[in-house]
Amino acid sequence: MNKNLDLIIKNSRVIDPKNNIDEKLDVGIKYGKIYEIAKNIQTSRSPETIDQENKILMPGHIDTHAHLSAVFNDNINSDYGHKMLAESGTTTALDLAGEPDIMVEGMKNNGAGLSVATIMGLVPHKTVNKDDPDNITLRDTIFDVKKRGGIGVKILGGYFPFSVDANSRVIKEANDQLSWVAFHVGSKTAGSDIIGLREVPESTDQGRLHVAHINSYTRGLVNKEEKEVEEAISIIKNMKNHWVTEAYMSKINGTNGLCDENGNLVYNVAQNCLILGGYEPNENGLRKALSEGYGSALTVKNNRNVLVNGDEAVKFWEKSLTNASLSFPVNPPSSAFRLSTEKYENSDDFVIDAISTDGGYIPRNVAIEKTMALVNFGALSLKDAVIKLSYSPSKMLGLENKGHLSEGSDADITIIDPQTNKACMSLVAGKVIMINGKSVSDNGTWLILEEGKPVAEKSGVNFQVINLEKSKLYKSF
Ligand SMILES: [Zn+2]
Repeated sequence: MNKNLDLIIKNSRVIDPKNNIDEKLDVGIKYGKIYEIAKNIQTSRSPETIDQENKILMPGHIDTHAHLSAVFNDNINSDYGHKMLAESGTTTALDLAGEPDIMVEGMKNNGAGLSVATIMGLVPHKTVNKDDPDNITLRDTIFDVKKRGGIGVKILGGYFPFSVDANSRVIKEANDQLSWVAFHVGSKTAGSDIIGLREVPESTDQGRLHVAHINSYTRGLVNKEEKEVEEAISIIKNMKNHWVTEAYMSKINGTNGLCDENGNLVYNVAQNCLILGGYEPNENGLRKALSEGYGSALTVKNNRNVLVNGDEAVKFWEKSLTNASLSFPVNPPSSAFRLSTEKYENSDDFVIDAISTDGGYIPRNVAIEKTMALVNFGALSLKDAVIKLSYSPSKMLGLENKGHLSEGSDADITIIDPQTNKACMSLVAGKVIMINGKSVSDNGTWLILEEGKPVAEKSGVNFQVINLEKSKLYKSF
């Protein structure tokens, strides 16, 4: 006898790489799980049916590099990232990196139904006691983050660089505690570029590491961008069993325009952006770059963060006493193309695990539409696209019930309109969280480690314990 369902999604082209499905099918959902995928599921079996004829239905987009809690105190509201991500079709995100307490407050106040894990950025004298922290400081800091509901830490080499030795210590301590560890490349001896990336294999040693946004080190700052891309790919291939990686495909980056009293830019990333645009890497150069429209500033309009240009950007940056979130068009599309499509020789495995947004509260949540552009271009198959956007990210994080549509898996779904290349609907645990680019849900699910349970229980937020032993990061570790 046919059991009753809670919801049926009818007539879409279902793509599920894990189960080798690419066919026009109906999806039956019950208790927030995938119950049945079949041809012509009878509508009488469910009180609710959604027809998605001519649409593409995939397991929900898992963003392995998003921002939902800010490292910088710079006048924009990181809470809006929840709705901004949901409105682009994301269902699960790794918040990389801020503070678990800030993220979960944002989830309560401005949530959008997403599942979110957070790692904490290591900011000297703010989130970690010391510059170039020693082993004991790191051990305590990482343990404390997990108790506060984070799943690990991130080295912010492009902003708060440590020595190469301290980078090694962070990776080792995080590995010893089986905690997530991500690295925005850069140190006291190398910038946030291809030279910085060259240092990372040694810092990783025999350990495990998430190397963040590979595209950021292939902007053509040291060599021609094509040469940098080839070098990055070869370094990653050599670190195959040690690293997980992602690249984002937005042309614009995200950085901060903070200047000191002498008119110097404080952060290496911002300096690089100005050099790439042909501007002096200082306060005057930045003012000129903003007023001429090369850079944009982030501000709030209608409960979303948006970019503004020209005089409006200059005004906002000055009003923030230079401590403002900025964006520059520094990511070459050719790098994004190579990094997103490269596979190992004679293999179906991608060199770079996932396509991320590096967005969230930064308005560049274009992973789905840019990946679909590569599909239309013929550079990726639809199956490949779903691997990069969902299946492979689920394995990176060890989320065994996500990234595919097997019976009993979480009913997390992203539906894409091939006419626009954009997500037109998404569901988390069988509940619709986005319709036609509008967030229609709130709250969310906090993804934590075992150590975070007491805090999560107290928070009143729905939570789920994840196990990083199952993640690709710690596979056979
Ligand atoms: Zn980022």
